[in-house]
Amino acid sequence: MTPMTADGRDDREAAAVAMLERLVAFRTESRSSNLECVDFIRNHLAGLGIETTTIYDETHTKANIFATIGPRVPGGVVLSGHTDVVPAEEGDWTSDPFRLVERDGRLYGRGACDMKGFDAIVLSAVPRMLAAGLKAPVHIALSYDEEVGCKGAPSLVEAMTRAIPPPRAVIVGEPTMMAPVIGHKSSLSFFTTVKGKPVHSSRIDTGVSAVMIAARLIAWLDETMEANRRRAAPNGFAPPYTTLHCGMVKGGVAANIVAQACEFVTDIRSVPDEDPLAYRGAFEAYIAQEILPRMHSVAPETGVAIIERSHVPSLAPEPGGAAGALARELTGVDEAGFVSYGTEAGIFQRAGWSTVVCGPGDIAQAHQADEYLSREQLRAGVAFTDRLIARLSD
Ligand SMILES: [Zn+2]
Repeated sequence: MTPMTADGRDDREAAAVAMLERLVAFRTESRSSNLECVDFIRNHLAGLGIETTTIYDETHTKANIFATIGPRVPGGVVLSGHTDVVPAEEGDWTSDPFRLVERDGRLYGRGACDMKGFDAIVLSAVPRMLAAGLKAPVHIALSYDEEVGCKGAPSLVEAMTRAIPPPRAVIVGEPTMMAPVIGHKSSLSFFTTVKGKPVHSSRIDTGVSAVMIAARLIAWLDETMEANRRRAAPNGFAPPYTTLHCGMVKGGVAANIVAQACEFVTDIRSVPDEDPLAYRGAFEAYIAQEILPRMHSVAPETGVAIIERSHVPSLAPEPGGAAGALARELTGVDEAGFVSYGTEAGIFQRAGWSTVVCGPGDIAQAHQADEYLSREQLRAGVAFTDRLIARLSD
């Protein structure tokens, strides 16, 4: 029997909405501290008698938090979320992004979908986890700075590998409409800065144009991607090959001045059986062999530098993986798909833990004005969590 409140709604659902309301109210945009939110979660769990571990960043303004509910034995399940959200600067929000409101069966608020909705479902289910007599534990893992290149997750996962007995599966609750996702590409992003030698354009032979060097490097990215496209075979990803992209370029000052500086940003998204660092290595080799000798022959002070921005590893499909099987069993959804966005899943998988992405909400609603989680998806998330609790209490 499902306990119902006076208005006919499920108590479990009401608890999840109340928790979501609290979480949305914390302004945890990635550039801000998330410590108030983490303190709230720590107090919530402490109130239920659960110990938590916090792992701070080097500035002590952000933290990961994890906790184990149930016996400290192997074979538990990690439920992974992040506490940060993207900035709510889109001008066209209908209501305050940091105040949860419901309209027409949709719960609106920054992070409602990505991914405080999942966090709220999990945190509000802890009393039921405690009451269920779990035979294998649930480990709750909440990170900081996921939205700016999964910066918090590595220290979180590292601390967990030392603290918890090996789990059977990790479920990363990013929005997938509760369909198990078993693979995504990696993403590697870096800046390239070109230092040229400025001269009047009439004497370009005595200078080095940073803009024109950058153009050759950007063309290399495009040609490399084109070669990938030509040899690609269907593998479940769209597109089925490693992509190389330049999304921003700035440099130069005038038509008749050979540019002194040019900077551009590269984003490489590789299929799981390729290493994005190998692409960066090939890019660096091209620079060293084809670009620098000519630059230096004109002006030795010129050069090219690469500065890393972020690296999110891929989630490789695991044939017969425990996490995929568990997610299929709990959702009843057979289709185990691929997505094109990155998550923290690959970081957990690299710890040797079977990992799947499966959570409530539609990624199309993430990072948008009027971000929302539908009641229906919230309900599906609650039901998923309860099936997991039942499974771990068997
Ligand atoms: Zn997310």
